[in-house]
Amino acid sequence: MIYLGADGGIPEVSKEEIIGRAEAVLKKCRLDNEVLVDIETVCDALRVNILPVADLFRCFHIDAFISADFRTIYVDEGEFRKSSPRYRFSVAHELGHFVLHRDYYPSGVSGLREWVDASCDLLSAWAENQANCFAGNLLVPEDKLIQILNNEFGGSFARNYWNASPAEFERIFARVGKKFMVSEQVILRRMQDIFPGVGRDIFYIVKNSWRSYVNKK
Ligand SMILES: [Zn+2]
Repeated sequence: MIYLGADGGIPEVSKEEIIGRAEAVLKKCRLDNEVLVDIETVCDALRVNILPVADLFRCFHIDAFISADFRTIYVDEGEFRKSSPRYRFSVAHELGHFVLHRDYYPSGVSGLREWVDASCDLLSAWAENQANCFAGNLLVPEDKLIQILNNEFGGSFARNYWNASPAEFERIFARVGKKFMVSEQVILRRMQDIFPGVGRDIFYIVKNSWRSYVNKK
């Protein structure tokens, strides 16, 4: 059992529990059989509104945050208009706070600036990890990622990934990212989560050249 830790009043939650919570949300929205998760459908099902705010990132250096009453996720308008992978992950991350942390947020704050400051103070790295874990599992569920990787790697990712060159890896990351409409970094992180040993290899392969990696091994 892996715990993502407790800090600042946020309780420990196991990875398995977070995965279960993400799966339950997908089931509730009838999205458990879809590869591409429509994040707006999830928000509707949880009765959370999305409200674009002009220059949110420029002014506050955040992509999104959830309101004190947990009814509205404010998002950067530019990312919202593009419906970008970054926007989708930000909303999924805030839904992670909604599902996992809504009983632990401060109450009695008024005003946008105060709320942003209060929630930034409260939300430790642990809580952020929990929300990221939820978002990753919501947008890129393990069984679907494995299925797609197996298809990409001639039937078996685990058996064949060694044969792929760094350039092929990058092409595959881009293709898989598009299928889930998430960034390549999210796919890479999910792979590291799901296949810890393999994930480390791939991380190295992508960051460095294949030849230097093989020589080092
Ligand atoms: Zn957060």
